[in-house]
Amino acid sequence: MKLRVINSGSKGNAYILDAGDEALLIECGVRFSDIKGAFNFDFTKLLGCIVTHEHGDHAKSVSDLMSFGIDVHATKGTHTALKSIGHHRAKTFEYKEFFRLGSFRIMSFDVLHDAAEPCGFLIYHPECGNLLFITDLIFCKYTFPDLNNIIIEANYADEIAKRKLNDMEFLRNRIIKNHMSLDTCISTLQANDLSKVNNIVLIHLSDSNSDELMFKDRVKEATGKTVTVADAGITIDFNKTPF
Ligand SMILES: [Zn+2]
Ligand SMILES: [Zn+2]
Repeated sequence: MKLRVINSGSKGNAYILDAGDEALLIECGVRFSDIKGAFNFDFTKLLGCIVTHEHGDHAKSVSDLMSFGIDVHATKGTHTALKSIGHHRAKTFEYKEFFRLGSFRIMSFDVLHDAAEPCGFLIYHPECGNLLFITDLIFCKYTFPDLNNIIIEANYADEIAKRKLNDMEFLRNRIIKNHMSLDTCISTLQANDLSKVNNIVLIHLSDSNSDELMFKDRVKEATGKTVTVADAGITIDFNKTPF
């Protein structure tokens, strides 16, 4: 399995889980041309797109994908907010309900974010094992057993944001209220059993309130795991075991 990052961050998110003969798109918050380019203009192996919530940086290309014949799976609240509900390519799921796309087995769960019905994903595939995908949330109230790979938001660091904003601005800041801080990301990781985890990938870093190297070092130090920051265009090996 390869994880391919089309883009990550507030300007757009799209990630491909590529198992060679089949692939899953997580989020489509980038230009449709960028998605087409990432697939070399050939969607035959794409099983569908799963979307966490309706914000443009996650859902920008939903209607283009559906017009192109690709199923887009999201909660009813997300599809309703996107006005895509009712389209024959708009598939809905309930929180904590399993569904299958090819060899991928997917379950969503609720997260806290300023959107209609946002979710995170627990995804199983024989090649990457159990993958946790969480982004755009304040904190995660669940823990998950037997994780093999984790893709998690680390949006901002309190100390960087506080240096730039005065106290009132810090308290009022919408992004800070709705996204995961580096400290919360670390405590979320530490709340889970990481013994079988192969990769931790940090996503959705803030342009102004983060520091890629510091984030990577802090998470590595706290977990002892291989940590990668999801820069646009990177591909990483994303298997169950390191080799
Ligand atoms: Zn976002
Ligand atoms: Zn959002």
